Amino acid sequence: MGDIRVTVWHEFRHEKDGQHPSGKIYPEGMHKPIADYLNAQPGLSARTATLDEPEHGLTEEALANTDVLTWWGHMAHGDVRDDIAERVVQRVWQGMGLIVLHSAHFSKVFKRLMGASCDLKWREADEKERIWVVEPGHPIANGLPHYFELEKEEMYGERFDIPQPDELVFISWFEGGEVFRSGCCWTRQKGRIFYFRPGHESYPTYYNETILKVIANGVRWAAPQEGAEQVYGHCEPLEQIGR
Ligand code: ZN
Repeated sequence: MGDIRVTVWHEFRHEKDGQHPSGKIYPEGMHKPIADYLNAQPGLSARTATLDEPEHGLTEEALANTDVLTWWGHMAHGDVRDDIAERVVQRVWQGMGLIVLHSAHFSKVFKRLMGASCDLKWREADEKERIWVVEPGHPIANGLPHYFELEKEEMYGERFDIPQPDELVFISWFEGGEVFRSGCCWTRQKGRIFYFRPGHESYPTYYNETILKVIANGVRWAAPQEGAEQVYGHCEPLEQIGR
């Protein structure tokens, strides 16, 4: 079997505005440390794509050659072309895995796949996040401790308006008291979707080894499964009916 082909998609606007702290934290964009980590893992091969490339770097050909797509967006969800968001949704239905990171909860692609507002509570107060592993036998929890912590993160709090996850792997607690379902799995047709909460652009979260390990675990879990093309619509019976 060949490598799992990953496309690390990033909006890549905050880092380029010249004022925002993310430009110092991620001088080449936060997609760079994510892709570098994935490329260092056996069996994974990552490329990057960004919003301001032609067709957002997500041409039909690029998506056809992507097994798992990771998505980070925040300030420019509205700049993602509707037809390209729809193209991504179709590929997920066909079996491409999707890893939805942090503020991509409001991306066109995720909202369309969830069929919900995907809204949540938030606060930027440099507070500690403690992430509890609540499904330790899940592949995405492979190699993780009981819990792990980020010294400073943005707070996301419940309620998170999503459909009930098929599997819930992580719950976050924040210093201010809120909790959040921070590692959620769904399937949509043949595609697997993993939402992973951490990754606010003002913090160096995507250099954290545990966070990167979770993303790599998520990629392996979300990789396309073998199996038949799905067929819909009118169909002939397999057996003679009413003999
Ligand atoms: Zn954020």
